[in-house]
Amino acid sequence: MSVKVANLGFPRIGPRRELKFALESFWGGRSSEAELEKTAAELRHETWQLQDKLGIDYIPSNDFSFYDHVLDTSAMLGAVPERYGFKGGKVDLATYFAMARGTTSADHSVTAMEMTKWFDTNYHYMVPELVKGQKLALASTKALDLYNEAKAAGIETRPVLLGPVTWLSLAKGRDVNPFDYLDDVISIYTDVLESLAKAGAKWVQIDEPALVLDLNDQQKAAFKKAYDKLSKAGPSLMLTSYFGRLADNLDLALSLPVSGIHLDLIRGKEDQKALLEKARPDLVLSLGVIDGRNIWRTDLDALLDWVEPLAKTRDLILAPSCSLLHVPVDLKAEKKIDAEVAQWLAFAHQKLEELVILKKALNKGRNEVALELADSAKAAENRRSSPRIHNPQVAKRLATVTPQMAQRLSPYPKRAALQQEGLKLPLYPTTTIGSFPQTTEVRQARAKHRRGELDDAGYTQFLREQTAATIHWQEEIGLDVLVHGEFERNDMVQYFGEQLSGFVFTNNGWVQSYGSRCVRPPILFGDVTRPKAMTVEWWAFSQAQSEKPVKGMLTGPVTILNWSFVRNDQPRSESCRQLALAIRDEVVDLEKAGAKIIQIDEAALREGLPLRRNEWQTYLDWAVESFRLTASGVQDKTQIHSHMCYSEFNDILPSIAAMDADALSIETARSQMELLQAFASYEYPNQIGPGVYDIHSPRIPSVKEMVELLRLARKYLPADRLWVNPDCGLKTRRWEEVKPSLLAMVAAAHQMREEEKTK
Ligand code: GLN
Ligand code: ZN
Repeated sequence: MSVKVANLGFPRIGPRRELKFALESFWGGRSSEAELEKTAAELRHETWQLQDKLGIDYIPSNDFSFYDHVLDTSAMLGAVPERYGFKGGKVDLATYFAMARGTTSADHSVTAMEMTKWFDTNYHYMVPELVKGQKLALASTKALDLYNEAKAAGIETRPVLLGPVTWLSLAKGRDVNPFDYLDDVISIYTDVLESLAKAGAKWVQIDEPALVLDLNDQQKAAFKKAYDKLSKAGPSLMLTSYFGRLADNLDLALSLPVSGIHLDLIRGKEDQKALLEKARPDLVLSLGVIDGRNIWRTDLDALLDWVEPLAKTRDLILAPSCSLLHVPVDLKAEKKIDAEVAQWLAFAHQKLEELVILKKALNKGRNEVALELADSAKAAENRRSSPRIHNPQVAKRLATVTPQMAQRLSPYPKRAALQQEGLKLPLYPTTTIGSFPQTTEVRQARAKHRRGELDDAGYTQFLREQTAATIHWQEEIGLDVLVHGEFERNDMVQYFGEQLSGFVFTNNGWVQSYGSRCVRPPILFGDVTRPKAMTVEWWAFSQAQSEKPVKGMLTGPVTILNWSFVRNDQPRSESCRQLALAIRDEVVDLEKAGAKIIQIDEAALREGLPLRRNEWQTYLDWAVESFRLTASGVQDKTQIHSHMCYSEFNDILPSIAAMDADALSIETARSQMELLQAFASYEYPNQIGPGVYDIHSPRIPSVKEMVELLRLARKYLPADRLWVNPDCGLKTRRWEEVKPSLLAMVAAAHQMREEEKTK
């Protein structure tokens, strides 16, 4: 019996975010396509060489992407919506980036493709779009090119493809069922697989994370049809699923004529028994036993106790549970992390090292790696017993939480009347979601301050100037409810995490969020407390600049939880309640300081949803409860806003309503308000701000198109419950884009007010 190790995907952004900077420089017209390609190729080579050197047996290729692997797959299939003017042949880089980001030019502006979260991660993919009569044809040879590129560098790889059924399951058909294209898609995949076989690829990793979802009959039939064909195309297929257990889909997966199957045994350990019992003897099993979704170091001895007996029964491949796209590159790049906490962690590089240690232990005996195992055991023991993790005060306070604490004093209608008395807002009040452009100037000042080149006083002065100017500009253009701009915040979660106890931060622990955008998730390792007020000073400074209300701006507990790497030694719900109490204290302090409106962003509430329906309600119940616990310490006259950045609400509307925010702003600009229909038919009772300006693209929306969106909204909802706002924060945009866009937005609101008079 022998054990081999595989990787399913490596972070593509680069150890120092090289790809991000190369992309942004290319988009900004400061470098050429050739320069971008050169940086990308260098990154790929480094990554392959690293994995080769570490001793990984199956090294992935085609895990690299310029923007997103789902978009790559759409390009491969030639699934390019008409608006990009694609004429067939190969999808060139300009078309590819137009699909990703939209374009603005005098004569021809197009919107980007819709973007949404990849399963339950904070990675965003571009939603494939299909229309009736669409012609699909092979339009990208990237998988083959990258396989050849690695081969030329002397490295044999296992190419990665996103599987056809998952791609079709993620696709949106405008007037067509995406699965109508199954045959076309299969035939293109067949070509790709044949070309890979011809080039020498023995194995192909074909990712079908859809296998962890509730599947309908159509999807199940598609799996059968697709893999009957694809398994004959040449390469051995490693059918790869991740992010959960297969459960009732396991039999389906095992019935497919593929050569190997990979399961995520971190999240789906319950599948193991059935897998081993039912798998064909010749089926190659790849077990995801190292957590690809979190940053905790593995207790290798404990893992060996589990895997050793399995490895005695058959040949195995061990792998991370999923692609390492979702964790930072290398812990060794961290110079400042507290040493005690650092020994509990493993990033992509370390996870691959863990795999290699496991391989040695299993193939040659634990003695072979005695030192490494002892080290791992010591770290695990230290983490279990460290007093840094458990704070008795926190447990005590949690025990005193009552149901009343998660309940506003009066129901919404009474609150709304009291709030309007104090706020006196016009119909269609205008506001923004919180952040204003994080310009180079802002980022440079922050970097200088961090490096000690700009002292505290100088930095504060700079931030005050930025904030005051932004407040004045908002006033000038006639926005009704102002924001301070969030210039002091590096990131909406990190900013709070840094001021709470129980978190540590990385210097360089970047994880791709979408395209060139990366985040550095905080690491929640211990019990949470709020040593002191976090935002009150900035709010007070900002409010002092204006007569108009300035919103207090907080990140909610569920979002902090979902965008952090969190503890795996207690339930997520428990960590969330700790966060809720900490943010609740901040809400109360803002109110005390005089804030009339406080926004608690729950941008990420939806992405915490379990992938299986039957687990949803449990999650929603504790998530909503945590939000309410955060929001309910205030008086009726204080208006609580929340913001969410996605547009699929239909299925969780009762829970969204149960949050009982006085006003909720949501993303709709990209999905043409289709969801408002749901809000209307559900009779969502509170105020709502459907995003009328898509901030994910540099495009400047016109007054006319925003008015049209608002008229659509007005069809479904009464005017006195509608807000006018962009669909998310403006930090990624440039002032040149933001200024005309918001001017137009205010004009659109004025027009709506006029129209309302004639109703
Ligand atoms: N208040 C935050 C901002 O404007 C919200 C961001 C978000 O929803 N992702 O940046
Ligand atoms: Zn948002």
